[in-house]
Amino acid sequence: MQQPNQNATTPPDNGGGDVFQMLWDCRFCGTKKLLGVDHRHCPNCGAAQDPEWRYFPSEADKKTVTDPHYTYAGVDKICPFCQQPNSAAANFCKACGGDLANSKTAVLKVTVSTELGQDVAGIADDVVKQRFEKDLAPAKKGLSRRVMAIIAVIMSACIGLCGGALGLSNSTYDSKLNVTNMSWERTISIDRYESQQGSDWRNEVPSGAYNRNCYSKDRPRQESYQEACGVERVDRGDGSFSQKTKMCTRSRTVYESDTFCTYSIDRWIHNRDLKTSGGPNEAVMWANFAPALTSGLGAEREAGRTETYKVDFQATDNAKNTYTYEPDTDAIWSTFKVGQQYSVKINRLEIPQWDTLKLLAPR
Ligand SMILES: [Zn+2]
Ligand SMILES: [Zn+2]
Repeated sequence: MQQPNQNATTPPDNGGGDVFQMLWDCRFCGTKKLLGVDHRHCPNCGAAQDPEWRYFPSEADKKTVTDPHYTYAGVDKICPFCQQPNSAAANFCKACGGDLANSKTAVLKVTVSTELGQDVAGIADDVVKQRFEKDLAPAKKGLSRRVMAIIAVIMSACIGLCGGALGLSNSTYDSKLNVTNMSWERTISIDRYESQQGSDWRNEVPSGAYNRNCYSKDRPRQESYQEACGVERVDRGDGSFSQKTKMCTRSRTVYESDTFCTYSIDRWIHNRDLKTSGGPNEAVMWANFAPALTSGLGAEREAGRTETYKVDFQATDNAKNTYTYEPDTDAIWSTFKVGQQYSVKINRLEIPQWDTLKLLAPR
């Protein structure tokens, strides 16, 4: 059995919170603020209550259920033969006697959440307008489909352009280059074992710390807590609704007495870089590093080595076109000589394809 409650966001509330009566307006005689539980029919004209026309009352119009025998049986069943709403406990329609076995349940109103001190409007929803907007929805969907089609066209155009750029980088031309300069640089990074000052909460002081100086200090901490922040009204589908206090999670800073420490600790920290560099005629070498101390405070050690090699080229037919090749090793770098001529493929983005580099025989 499917529930036709397109308005509902939450299932009916069967317990918790205080229970009050929904209101409804008689659409036949115009009588307003009829009570959802007490008035199953309009006391003025006798028309049956339509669950779709129910609404939440304002604080001033809120009324509890007066019938002492009232119990919540569930969301009303709508008679499939005469549309009369019946109690969920009923098996047969009290208006026409029809079998309620295949009945649908009443449409539920959207749960209403309000901030503290905020009231609800307490007037009937414009059901006619809601139906009209619902009928309009498929038309809007059609429009968005058209928008999607336009976006698809724009995207495919863009892909075409990007493909064009890819084509550019794939197509190459041959160029002749002269080696104009060569350079290299090597760096050894040196760490030194030093005494460092630090400060932290006692439970976070690192092991190995010494010269501790601790004192008591208030430590901030974030704490979450629940706070009443509004009211939630949930349609129970039988002409009543439950009202519950809405709780929100808040956060606040609390301070607790703790211990804060300053300390000393010995650590390896970066001290300096030893650089060597040169041109085409300088032999490639590492800086000479011999630590005075290898243990204890003041000891030094290598922390890493880096090396870069560069070969500068100039196009033979256009001195403005210069390129720099960075070989990975000095073994490759040392095969080049200033004045040598190479051929290379260069793409349309002016990027040389270094894997195509070929030494040309001297003229
Ligand atoms: Zn009426
Ligand atoms: Zn009926």
